[in-house]
Amino acid sequence: MNYTWYFSHNIITSSITHESHQAKEIITLCIICCAMILEINSGVPKAPPASKEVVAKLPVTTVTEEAIAKLGKDAVCSICQENLVVDDKMQELPCKHMFHPPCLKPWLDEHNSCPICRHELKTDDHAYESWKEREKEAEEERKGAANAVRGGEYMYV
Ligand SMILES: [Zn+2]
Ligand SMILES: [Zn+2]
Repeated sequence: MNYTWYFSHNIITSSITHESHQAKEIITLCIICCAMILEINSGVPKAPPASKEVVAKLPVTTVTEEAIAKLGKDAVCSICQENLVVDDKMQELPCKHMFHPPCLKPWLDEHNSCPICRHELKTDDHAYESWKEREKEAEEERKGAANAVRGGEYMYV
């Protein structure tokens, strides 16, 4: 018997088996990932852009010395990272975060939340709004149930 052949052949075989075993593991992992992604997607719809009407009504303020003194010298528009300058026009979200209107517009064309704190604005998407409404109710119900159990008011007869 040619030992060199036998030896190298054996290594090749074992490395193939090893590889295919790994491949199987990767495929299994991927199926789990897909299932997780599907689960996440089925529960939470992708947030639509902010309502055009709400965006149009966002207040525009002019940066003043006082505003900069209050926010600090390092205050920036978090989208373009430019320092706030006196007399700059800034658009303010309900969460009080400020951005340059030309910076904020493209963001709100794609998203419905503040880029800093994720405070959500209303959208024009009825399906999403009613999902949010249901989520809020479910959340309150969960909180209510937790309180009732803690308070001992909830009695099962
Ligand atoms: Zn900006
Ligand atoms: Zn914010």
